[in-house]
Amino acid sequence: MPPRKRRRKVFREPPVSVYKPAGIPARELEEILITVDEFEAIRLSDFKGMNQREASTVMHVSQPTFNRILSSARNKIARGLVEGSVLRIEGGNYVLGDGSGFLKCMSCEARVDPESKSCPKCGATSFRWERFSS
Ligand SMILES: [Zn+2]
Repeated sequence: MPPRKRRRKVFREPPVSVYKPAGIPARELEEILITVDEFEAIRLSDFKGMNQREASTVMHVSQPTFNRILSSARNKIARGLVEGSVLRIEGGNYVLGDGSGFLKCMSCEARVDPESKSCPKCGATSFRWERFSS
C-alpha cells in the first residue's frame, strides 16, 4: 500500500473563493489556484501572527511541511498581485479541524481552541489533535 498522505487541518474555509482584478474579463486573465491548506497557512502565519511551530501544530504538519505550504502560498499571492491574475482558493489536502477532532494541550490535556496561541489553563504552546471518540 502506498503511504497515506496526512491531511492538513484547516479550521475554517475561506470566506471568498475567487479574487479577480476589476475591469478585465476573467477569460483574458491567468488563474492561480491556491489550495485551502495554503490559505490556512497564510491565515495562521501572516494574519494571526503565529510562529511556524505554533502554526504547524495547529495544521498537524511538520515545520518543514508548513514552511513549504506557506512559501508556496506567499509566492502564488505575490505573483497574482504583481501580474494581475485571478486567485482561486479551493481544493487541497485538508480536513476541517472543527469537524473531526479537537486540539489538546500536551502538558495538561486541556482542550484548546484552535484560534488560541497558548493553553488557557497552563499557558503551554504545544498541542496535538485528538479525534472525537465515537
Ligand atoms: Zn495546558
